[in-house]
Amino acid sequence: MSETQTDQAQSLLAATSWMERTVPKVHVPEENKDQPTFSEPTVECPECHALVTQTAMSFNTYVCPQCDEHLAMKARERLHWFFDQVNQELGQEFTAKDPLGFVDSKPYPKRMEEAQQKTGETEALISMHGVLQDVAMYAVAFNFEFMGGSMGTVVGDRFVQAAEQALKNRQPLICFAASGGARMQEGMLSLMQMARTSAAIERLRQAGVPYIVVLTNPVYGGVTASLAMLGDVHLAEPKAMIGFAGKRVIEQTVREKLEEPFQRAEYLLEHGVVDQIVHRHALRDTIYRIVTKLMKLP
Ligand SMILES: [Zn+2]
Repeated sequence: MSETQTDQAQSLLAATSWMERTVPKVHVPEENKDQPTFSEPTVECPECHALVTQTAMSFNTYVCPQCDEHLAMKARERLHWFFDQVNQELGQEFTAKDPLGFVDSKPYPKRMEEAQQKTGETEALISMHGVLQDVAMYAVAFNFEFMGGSMGTVVGDRFVQAAEQALKNRQPLICFAASGGARMQEGMLSLMQMARTSAAIERLRQAGVPYIVVLTNPVYGGVTASLAMLGDVHLAEPKAMIGFAGKRVIEQTVREKLEEPFQRAEYLLEHGVVDQIVHRHALRDTIYRIVTKLMKLP
């Protein structure tokens, strides 16, 4: 082979080699080799992106062990965690109807069916009677996963039933709120639940039966405008978003940029809407203390 031919062959090799070159192996630093691999489902913290196993999250009541972010907690799980002993679940006899024959992108009954399949619940509010330490009480919790925790007639029915029982037995009522507001698929009937629930709470107030609201992330619309703002005491979980209209709607109306922490629990505490921000781990004790004080129990 002549010198020119060798040069040509080498330049050809050089030209093709970089194209054919395989991707080099990724170098894994020693300290990363021991990273745990999860054999069970994990939850990613939306704040710090830590991967935590479902069991660990559940044990820590869905508070991120790394950054203390309060993740959403399902209504049923929350009530079972809240009570030391559950005596009874109430309101399962109420089931949703479709009084308006409402259809948006899909019919209301179809939407309901999907929500029921997704959550395994029949409605957006769960109501239970149980015991916290040594005090019997009623508690209701909104399931935000169920159509945005929206308040329709069944949510109203279940809430009013719990309030009436609380009144009859002179036992406190606790509400864990998380809702996008009234349920548009039930139109006016859903708005009427605001008045119904407010009236039931007023009867509790007149009788001196404590009604305590725990605002969890998020609480908006018709629920904020009624049962979530009528408590004797308003507790909130850290960083919960609480408002009537959403931030963007208000920004468009007032033509002003609203900075963080607008509508957060911390902001509302400063402005007198919320009485206390309570870490989820301290909620049970705090509620017990308030209830025993309000009821003048020893
Ligand atoms: Zn986190």
